[in-house]
Amino acid sequence: MQGLMQDWPLLLHKIIDHAARQHGSQEVVTRSVAGPITRTTYGAIRQRTLRIAKMLAKNGIRLGDRVATLAWNTDKHLEVWYGICGLGAISHTINPRLFPEQIAWIVNHAEDRLMFLDTTFVPLMEKLAAHVPTIERYVVLTDAANMPQTSLRNAVAYEEWLKETDEDYVWPEFDERTAAGLCYTSGTTGNPKGVLYSHRSNTLHAMTATSSDGLMIDYRDSVLPVVPLFHANAWGLAHAAPMRGAKLVMPGPKLDGASVYELLEAEKVTMTAGVPTVWMMLLDHLRRNNLKFSTLQRLGVGGSAFPESLIRTFEENYGVDVRHAWGMTEMSPVGSTGTIKSTLGQLTHDETMALKAKQGWALFGIEMKITDDDGRPKPWDGRAFGRLKVRGFATAAAYYRGDGGNILDEEGFFDTGDVATIDPHGYMQITDRAKDVIKSGGEWISSVDLENIAVGHPDVAEAAVIGVAHPKWDERPLLIVVPKEGKSPQRDDVIAFLRARTAKFWVPDDMQLIKEIPHTATGKINKLKLREIFKDYKLPEG
Ligand code: AMP
Repeated sequence: MQGLMQDWPLLLHKIIDHAARQHGSQEVVTRSVAGPITRTTYGAIRQRTLRIAKMLAKNGIRLGDRVATLAWNTDKHLEVWYGICGLGAISHTINPRLFPEQIAWIVNHAEDRLMFLDTTFVPLMEKLAAHVPTIERYVVLTDAANMPQTSLRNAVAYEEWLKETDEDYVWPEFDERTAAGLCYTSGTTGNPKGVLYSHRSNTLHAMTATSSDGLMIDYRDSVLPVVPLFHANAWGLAHAAPMRGAKLVMPGPKLDGASVYELLEAEKVTMTAGVPTVWMMLLDHLRRNNLKFSTLQRLGVGGSAFPESLIRTFEENYGVDVRHAWGMTEMSPVGSTGTIKSTLGQLTHDETMALKAKQGWALFGIEMKITDDDGRPKPWDGRAFGRLKVRGFATAAAYYRGDGGNILDEEGFFDTGDVATIDPHGYMQITDRAKDVIKSGGEWISSVDLENIAVGHPDVAEAAVIGVAHPKWDERPLLIVVPKEGKSPQRDDVIAFLRARTAKFWVPDDMQLIKEIPHTATGKINKLKLREIFKDYKLPEG
């Protein structure tokens, strides 16, 4: 027997409709690409999304067509994105930090028909335009007065383009499983792969992500997503904030410590989210200028491990609740956060901090397992590491155009490529990417654990660990360190620091200094590049 309840399709434009109805005067504040701070509301944004959808339809964009965006986090990017998927087209958010050839590759793979772009990216696309023939029109996110001279095909200033129509438009109806967004993973090897979100998966993900065990967002919040819209929909915040009526503060292109701090304070931000490198820049700014936060309550961090020493700094010195989250583009992206379960009883402050440094427990909608290389389950004892596999309502079932073939195991789980432990309480801890684990004498050494410990040393700003070939042990860990400004960390001292805090056979054989650790387009340590830099390096004998 079927239930007798209404079928109310989970469509993303219902989020902006709801925000306009219930929170119409709630503000969306932007540091614009041109510079000045601009202010609008969910009510006004919704009106513009209707216009955008109507105008796209007039330009011949239909259900299922891909429309690209190459833009920073701004109100314009947000409204364009709702307009595209409201029409039933697919919003393809492109990471501008990718190499130009990669951008051309993914535009061609997606067969994008139209592109919205910030003025900043006009020169880049002018260079690439001849290689991306599928794009019929470029809409530059600016007004006539600021429109640059450009050779881009059918280029038009966004505000002029919008004037060609009105908001007398009714959202079309379609199935909630319709594709809504396309985001390519920035794999360090091979071609990027497309993750194709649906209206249903993004809506359900937003409901989970906003919950109190997730990133905890509601109408009392002022939310600043430093994480870009092109990184899995700003980790879902672009859906979550309007869904819950939170004020949204968009940082535009300026993500340095001073600019982020200025917005956090001026816009009374209570919750912000981004990758660890952003928070390191912010901390540096706070320390140099002896600053504190007056409203910030929660800091969402993920994308790479956030070491306990940094969690402690934010919690102990600045009174901010750190929400260490783990996820991936293929998971929409939030999979787990490390909030403290009440069933754990009374924990000491040190125990709490150690637990927060783990990547946390799977939220509703995610199931996790860890297995050996042959798919046999590993125990949840907090010690056994295994390949981390997931399934759920917002996890990819396949890549766009079937790239990579079947990506699920016989139970429907997706292999994340991460290696993790899970403890008896369900707290998962990433120990590595499967390809970065250091295999020494048949044992696995976690490069991430060693990096997290090394950054706790007072002279170390950033650390990376890679495996280097060894005649007896196969591989041994090499520690690579960026010194804190004005400091010169000594090899023996840092190695002794690690020796006091980890298993003997994990202790790196050597340390090398580097000015800057290379990062990928999404802010992760680029180990491939590091291995290339150190390819001629030989471990000391003995
Ligand atoms: P992306 O698809 O770019 O979001 O990258 C996903 C990958 O980032 C995951 O598979 C992990 O390897 C890594 N990652 C994300 N969050 C964390 C975290 N909190 N700690 C460690 N690694 C993380």
